[in-house]
Amino acid sequence: MVRRGAVYDNDGFEVTEADVAEDPEGGWCASCKEECDAKIIDNGIGVYEYGSIRARDVRLDTVSCCCEDEVLKEAPDED
Ligand SMILES: [Zn+2]
Repeated sequence: MVRRGAVYDNDGFEVTEADVAEDPEGGWCASCKEECDAKIIDNGIGVYEYGSIRARDVRLDTVSCCCEDEVLKEAPDED
């Protein structure tokens, strides 16, 4: 993994890249069955109002970079 420069928190502990932005693990695309990288998309509905409450709906899903479909952890059966 390439380090893009260390970041330190207030106590002097190093904050790793993984803590800042989680890099999703690749796998196999459920749609085209090819080995693929994964990315995280936000499927939430965004900002909404419920009565007097204003909130933001965030639902992060891991999807394949090629088809934005489910990422399988194991290679799909060829047959
Ligand atoms: Zn695909």
